[in-house]
Amino acid sequence: MDPAKRASVGARSEVRDDIQLEEQVKDWLRYGEDLGLGPYYRDRPPLHAIAESAAAPQTVATSSAIPTAVPAAMTAAAAGRAPASSINVAASASQKSPAAAILPATAPSLFESIERIAGDTLPRIREDIGDCARCKLHKGRTKIVFGTGNPSADLMFVGEGPGRDEDLSGEPFVGRAGKLLTDMIKAMGLQREDVYIANVVKCRPPENRLPEKDEITTCSPFLMRQIDAIKPKVICTLGSCSAQTLLQTAQGISKLRGEWFDFRGAKLMPTYHPAYLLRNPGAKPEVWKDLQKVMAVLGLQPKKR
Ligand code: URA
Repeated sequence: MDPAKRASVGARSEVRDDIQLEEQVKDWLRYGEDLGLGPYYRDRPPLHAIAESAAAPQTVATSSAIPTAVPAAMTAAAAGRAPASSINVAASASQKSPAAAILPATAPSLFESIERIAGDTLPRIREDIGDCARCKLHKGRTKIVFGTGNPSADLMFVGEGPGRDEDLSGEPFVGRAGKLLTDMIKAMGLQREDVYIANVVKCRPPENRLPEKDEITTCSPFLMRQIDAIKPKVICTLGSCSAQTLLQTAQGISKLRGEWFDFRGAKLMPTYHPAYLLRNPGAKPEVWKDLQKVMAVLGLQPKKR
């Protein structure tokens, strides 16, 4: 090929590459806009601030000697359980390795490094979600389950996704597992209205299956915005899906539970899902231990029997 022709073919292919790149960037911007992330780019703090916060030392709270018998309120919901008085847990220190051994302390998770949208509010996040059809879950849903509770709660619970009762009512955790969660909250000396409850995905997965990766990727940025707007002191994740999503880890819940993690200015405590407790009431003492750690951090007294 003569040099002039080769130059002209090369230039045409560069133009094609440029157009393709431009389309990719436009797609990406449309996706960000769709998620309501426009203000993120406008209001982002300087990058050195993020680097400093990522480098800040990790704190792991230790709970003092606290009673470990499962409270009556928590034992009431499940059938086939042992009597509360027989479910006592030794107050020995945890055998598990510390959080730092599970997650590399040097690398902030994807979610840790997402910046906050200044002045974001729950109504604005709900409005941005709209009549969502961003993922396939919208096809089978009755109602979007956004989340409920105190918009400035110190304690936030995060489940995986709505079930049948939640899909019909539009409220998180109102079925059998929800009743047990309410009992757990009461056992902590709180009412449901005192805390905020949300899920990783806001539409019911078919047959109550676990949310899939693409659904989580699409929906969880809204959960992140909810967390940032509420600014809870403690986030208690329920089950493996929410712990793994927020901590960006594949570790199983039995390894994660009971350990403190730092998460975007909050302390995060993974514990078992109430639905798991309904099937395995023998795991309640472990959950009660986790909740007692949460109570110690928040200065809560257990409900008097
Ligand atoms: N299970 C969840 O994870 N969330 C709900 O809202 C209900 C059940």
